[in-house]
This record gives sequence, structure tokens and C-alpha cells, in this order.
Amino acid sequence: MDLFMPERVFFEPSSLKYPLGEKLYSLFDSKKNIEVIKTPMQNVYRSIPGKTEQEKYARSKKTLVVAVKKSLKLDVCKPSADFEFALATNCPGNCEYCYLQTTQSSRPYLRTYVNIEEIFDSIAKHIEKNGGGLTTFEVASTGDPLALEHITGSLSRTIEYFGSLDNARLRVVTKFDNVEPLLHLNHNLHTRFRVSINSRHVISSFEHNTASYDERISAASKIAHAAYPIGFIVAPIMVYEGWREEYSELFDRLKENLRGASLPENITFELIQHRFTPIAKKFILERFPSTGLDMDETKRVLKWGKFGRFKYVYPKETSGEMKEFISGLIMERFPHAVIEYFT
Ligand code: SF4
Repeated sequence: MDLFMPERVFFEPSSLKYPLGEKLYSLFDSKKNIEVIKTPMQNVYRSIPGKTEQEKYARSKKTLVVAVKKSLKLDVCKPSADFEFALATNCPGNCEYCYLQTTQSSRPYLRTYVNIEEIFDSIAKHIEKNGGGLTTFEVASTGDPLALEHITGSLSRTIEYFGSLDNARLRVVTKFDNVEPLLHLNHNLHTRFRVSINSRHVISSFEHNTASYDERISAASKIAHAAYPIGFIVAPIMVYEGWREEYSELFDRLKENLRGASLPENITFELIQHRFTPIAKKFILERFPSTGLDMDETKRVLKWGKFGRFKYVYPKETSGEMKEFISGLIMERFPHAVIEYFT
């Protein structure tokens, strides 16, 4: 897929004190068709053009903010890892069910953080606090770190940083495919690279401006052949006419494309059924008025979720069938795989 280039870039003034901030300023300032603005964070959203919610959202997704990560205390990130940190927030994709619709609803623009060394120091402190035992970190909870890699190079630096640490492991996940810069890094098996994957129908219908089904499978193959520990997040799993055939095709394709890779560790799979909250449904209908997403509450059951919100999930019988069917497809093709969770 085409690499992302923003139409406007805001620089938080303090970002220019960091080498990456300076580098990005020179890069964007030299491009005629990109608007470059220095302004404090609080002015960003109102400076993004657009009269309707849809317009504002679309233009925000083409806006990059270069910022300094102020809060360096890391949150816990269960079930994926011990802690999470961010190199970037949000992404240029337009997945209709993106969880960031609700968590970052008022700030749907992209942010990249330039104080990488301070972020690394914070990671080192959290390992120390963890008693020096093996500590895992998720870098993709608040956005897609690969989407901006061709601009910042921050993910490559982070993978090599973790490669140098004995007692820490990095977990990455992406829906993008520009993995070439990562293939020759000294990852030292310390980064588990997960590709977010789904059936053809789900990716092509709901995950706009992300890598296609074929592109993601090809990216996963390249990563596996570069001897990274590899994993897949299959999410959101949906039930629709033909779902069994399409998910079967997906795991056949993965098997075919991982053939010949040395696979230093067992492949992991994380399985997440489609769910939505009332607030997420509201944002989705505003931003994607002709969505084909099935958000009919009468066909779902309520489940108590994190952050005090109810979410609608498939009824127990359907989710049980989904879990059994998808797990069976995986284990038939990858007998050594680890299914980390189904939720
Ligand atoms: S790629 Fe991930 S972060 Fe980006 S819009 Fe899709 S779900 Fe959200």
C-alpha cells in the first residue's frame, strides 16, 4: 500500500528541542504541499479544517502532531503484556470499529513522540521496579507504530533497544505492511511481531486505508522469514454468511506463506470476537453513516467490560462455536501454536 504522508503537521514547540523533532521539522518544511504549523497542543483540534463531524474526522486522520510524551509512567496492559508505552498515537487507517473512536474521540489526529531516549529511560525504570525479572511491553495499544515508521524510524530504534536488553520483551502489532526497514535489525528474538489479520470480507469491508488481506499475509511472511518470533491477532472475528469458508482460507494462506520460515518460537494467536459499546456505535454511525457493521443489540448479549462500560458480544452459543471452530483451524495447521486467549 502507499505510504502515509500527512497534509498538515503541527509541531509542539518543545518537540523542536529533540533531534527527532528537528529532523521531522526539516523533512516536512522542505515539502511544498504539506502545511507546517508550530503551536501548543491545545490549539491543534480547532485548527483542523472541517465543518461536519465526518469532515473533521477525515482531515484529522491526515494530520500529524509532533509532540513530547509528557507522562512517562506506564500503564499496565493485560492480557497482552506487563506494561504499555507509545511511540505514536492513532494511525492513518480508518477501521470502522477502531477502539480509538471512543478512547480518543476528541483527538482523532496522529501523534508521534520525539523524546525516545526519555521513553527508553522510563522502560528501564519499569523493568527495575519489576524486580529485574522478565518484563513485557506492548507498543501498539494506542495506535499503529508501523504506520509512521518510514517517517520517524522510531520502531526500528525501539526493536534494537529491546534487542540489547536481557530482561525485557517487546510486543508489536500492526495492520500495515511496510516491514522492509525491520527485516535486517538486530532484534535478538526479543520482539514478538504480531500481524492483525482477518477474513477477506472483514478487512475489505471495514478496515479502510490499511494494508489489504494479501499485503498483510505477505508482510507476515517477510517478518517470519526474518526470524522474528511471530504472532497473529485475529480480530474482530465476525459471524456472517460464508464466515467458516473465509476463515479456513485465511489459515490455509498463513500456513502456505509461513512455510520455510525458521520460526524460532511457537506462533501465538490472540482471538477477539466482534463487540461494540453504545458509545462506539454512536461514533461509528456518525463517522460511517452507511456502515455495513452488524450492531444489532437484539442479536447480542451484554458483558461488563473494562473502564466501567457494558459491551455487546455474541451470545454464548455463537461465541463458543466461534472459539472452537477458529481454534480448530489453527491447531490443525499449526500444531505447536499457542492460543493466548479468546475474548
Ligand atoms: S489500524 Fe488499528 S489504530 Fe488504526 S484505525 Fe485500524 S484499528 Fe484503529
